[in-house]
Amino acid sequence: MIEYNGFCYEFFDIGMTWHEAKEYCEKLGGYLAVVKSRKEQKIVKKLISMGNRKIYWLGGTCEHSVGNWKWVTGEPWKYENWAPGEPNCEFGKEFFLLIYNYTAGSHRPFGKWNDADFDGSIFFWPNEKGFICQWNSLENYRKGTTSEFAQTRLPRAENKIFKKELEEKYGYKIIIENSILDNNFYLAKDSQYLEFKVLKEIENAFSMLPDGFVREVTKHQKRFGNQPSIVIRKRNVTDAPSANHVWDYNIIKKSPINRVQAKSAIFIREDIIGNLLHEFCHEIALTLKLLHLENPKVVSDKLKIAESFFLTKNKDFPYDLNYQSRDTSNERFFDIYFTKYASSEFWEDFADTFVNAIIRAGDVNACRNGIIKPIHEKINMIGAILSQTFVSIKDSDFLLKH
Ligand SMILES: [Zn+2]
Repeated sequence: MIEYNGFCYEFFDIGMTWHEAKEYCEKLGGYLAVVKSRKEQKIVKKLISMGNRKIYWLGGTCEHSVGNWKWVTGEPWKYENWAPGEPNCEFGKEFFLLIYNYTAGSHRPFGKWNDADFDGSIFFWPNEKGFICQWNSLENYRKGTTSEFAQTRLPRAENKIFKKELEEKYGYKIIIENSILDNNFYLAKDSQYLEFKVLKEIENAFSMLPDGFVREVTKHQKRFGNQPSIVIRKRNVTDAPSANHVWDYNIIKKSPINRVQAKSAIFIREDIIGNLLHEFCHEIALTLKLLHLENPKVVSDKLKIAESFFLTKNKDFPYDLNYQSRDTSNERFFDIYFTKYASSEFWEDFADTFVNAIIRAGDVNACRNGIIKPIHEKINMIGAILSQTFVSIKDSDFLLKH
């Protein structure tokens, strides 16, 4: 939190739509931050540089009158700090104010403003978005952040309902261990807040996948006798069971209960979404193996075909379990793997390629540069296997648009 000129400012690394963020600040007794001067702009820039998100929502909008920008507080709109070429009301629905916490070329400089669609989904994923709340006084800040809302929906009771909704919707059992809830990132000693944030990120991660897909995967797992679960805990854990090269039905059946895991509190702060999607992809792989073993005709030899296809694509950088010592300075490395970790072995490559296709779609497309690169072909291959196998995404273009 930063206090300036009687006002308090705090950033929140939670992926929400502009309207959700606005309501959230209001429930905390504040409002989405307004920036009315160069000094306030400086404060806000300093604040977000401590955050991990690419963009933060501010309390400006022109949703009620296109092009006519207003602050949520009704204060006069005078000071502006737009990025070059903005606001441009692109797609005819960019009515909400954001500030960049990163630099991408000259059109997206750190600290500059842009207009975005209400959930920012055209260019930014939930794990890239946060927002800034402002309070009129230190007293209001203290009141709001220790209020019943902050304590309890933050409320523990509401977290319970939220968790149950997610468990029912996706078929996962969600276990958030106490070992991470004592970590304070944003509000003092507020474990309910952290729990809420984790639940929200689980929802954000799955909302990036086609409707019904997660449910279909967990349904299969249950049919095979596994209870899929998401375990969020502090200590390091091993990967999900599909990571090993086991093709024997009996051994797979006996493998530990499925789990999508986030490894540590630090990880949760930085990238719970990427981690969950990576582990979820291992669940997909495990499901494919089980389906294949149950009825070889269903999955046929698609996975083995995929593996040899990946090997061909990666011939310049063969899999290496000592991936950490790998020299990745070669630009072509990124065309193939995108992450160092994916270069360790096929299942990690499969999972990380899947994740990159979803949460780094912009980077993946940018590396194309008019040319089809190995990573694009690998993404297409995964997309083809998935859409041929899972009813919920049959005939969809999920991952096939790269
Ligand atoms: Zn993995």
